[in-house]
This record gives sequence, C-alpha cells and structure tokens, in this order.
Amino acid sequence: MSKLYGSVEAGGTKFVCAVGDDDFQVLEKTQFPTTTPYETIERTVEFFKRYEDRLAGIAIGSFGPIDIDKNSPTYGYVTSTPKEHWANVDLLGLIAKEFNVPFYFTTDVNSSAYGEMMVRKNVSSLVYYTIGTGIGAGAIQNGEFIGGLGHTEAGHVYVPRHPRDYSNEFYGSCPFHKGCLEGLAAGPSLEARTGIRGELIEQNSDVWDIQAYYIAQAAVQATLLYRPQVIVFGGGVMGQAHMLKRVRDKFTALLNGYLPTPPVEEYIVTPAVPENGSATLGNLSLAKDLSNN
Ligand code: ZN
Repeated sequence: MSKLYGSVEAGGTKFVCAVGDDDFQVLEKTQFPTTTPYETIERTVEFFKRYEDRLAGIAIGSFGPIDIDKNSPTYGYVTSTPKEHWANVDLLGLIAKEFNVPFYFTTDVNSSAYGEMMVRKNVSSLVYYTIGTGIGAGAIQNGEFIGGLGHTEAGHVYVPRHPRDYSNEFYGSCPFHKGCLEGLAAGPSLEARTGIRGELIEQNSDVWDIQAYYIAQAAVQATLLYRPQVIVFGGGVMGQAHMLKRVRDKFTALLNGYLPTPPVEEYIVTPAVPENGSATLGNLSLAKDLSNN
C-alpha cells in the first residue's frame, strides 16, 4: 500500500485534520472546534491513529505564537497566546509521542503560504496573510520560510491609524499592542467600532474603507520588506468580494509608484487553492518532504 501523509491545521477556532496520498489527494478530512488542549489533542491523535500503519509523516501548522527553534527546550510549544488554556502547551510533543513518524512544525499561515506557492507556476517568493478573527502572515523567499529566532508575526506590526479611527480614539482590540494591524483590522475590530457583527455591516459603510486601508498597508510593508512575486489574502474578512478591490486601490495609492510590481490584479490576490485548502495542501507537501529526507 502506498504511503499517506498527515496535515494538522491547528487554528485558534478550529482544528482541521486530513490525510492525503502521494499526489496530495485528500482521503479524509475532519474538523472540530479548538476547545481545551487535552480534548483537542486527543481528537487529533484519534483521527490519525486509524491511518497509523500507512502514515509516513505529519505536518502541523499551528496558531501562535509557537516555538519553532529545534534547539529550544520548548520547541513545539504554543507559547504566549492570549487564548485561554493554550499558553505554554506542548502541542507538537503531545501529538508526536503517540506516533512513530517524523513531524514538521510551523505556523498555520506558513502552511497556507506553502500550499499557495505549490499551485502557482514559477512562484518561489510569496506572502500569505490571513485576515480573520486574527491576522497572521507566512512568508516564503526562494522556497524557504522566512524567520530567524522564530517565525515572523506580521499581524502585530504597528500601522499608522486611519484619520477616522483617530477621531474615535479607537486603538484596536489586541491585548498586547495599542494600534497593531491585527487589533485594527481583524474581524473583531469591525464589531468593536460599529457594534455590529462584520458580516451584517452594509457594503457602503465607510468602516470597510478604514479596514482596507490597514490591509493595504500590510501589502505595502510586505512589498517593501520582502519583494514577493505575489501577495495572497485569505481569511473570512477577505471572503467579502468587495474587499479585494478596495485593498488593491489603496495599495496602489499608498505605494505611489515607488517600486515596480506586477499588475495589481495579479499581485494582490485571494487564495488559489479552493475551499480553504491551502494549509492542508501545504502540510501534506511538507510532510512528504520529511519522509523523503
Ligand atoms: Zn498586536
């Protein structure tokens, strides 16, 4: 029987577990809410146990911050997350001790970035942002993840505030920073400003323009710092069809022709992998690479 590979997309809201074959065809996929570490990890282990005799590797893409330094005593841990019960949890260790296969451990957004790179021809430098209940980004340069002491945390960069946010004295909803990208532009910021849940806010509300202004700043930063070939914006907020055009327009205005980039419709895009499958695809490939090394 051919080998199988495992993917764990460990999100702050839900876990998505999948097994796939050599061609990254998904044989089975399941998801469940992220509850306590004990319960969530137990369900993850249970899912993969049924495939144990054929599994050749498992990749975990996790919400963070996480420790990805293999020489660190807390390698594989979720570290300083404000998510209840999950700070300082040995996510990788608690799963890996149940299996006799190699594991790859990275951020959920790195997994998504990897999946998005795989489906694009001649792309080896890419940045993937998720704009949802939180904001994170995975960055790949020449086929390798960017990071030094740890993974990057591009969701928590400080961004200049929109004039209307100044007048509201709104500093964002991040418990760590006053005025970071995630606090000002992730889903919860919409409700914090308006008192209305994001999906119920009218399309002509100027709150969308405020949010697009911050997301466009992220695209400018990614452009200036990494010079990627493409910037992918995923996540629930970008599922609103009108957002992409707003972000492209504001990006063009903010960069102001300073650097050449590909045409904005090709450069700033939403995911090419359908059905939120970017991270699963990326993980299956990372898991396969492990078992080939
Ligand atoms: Zn922050």
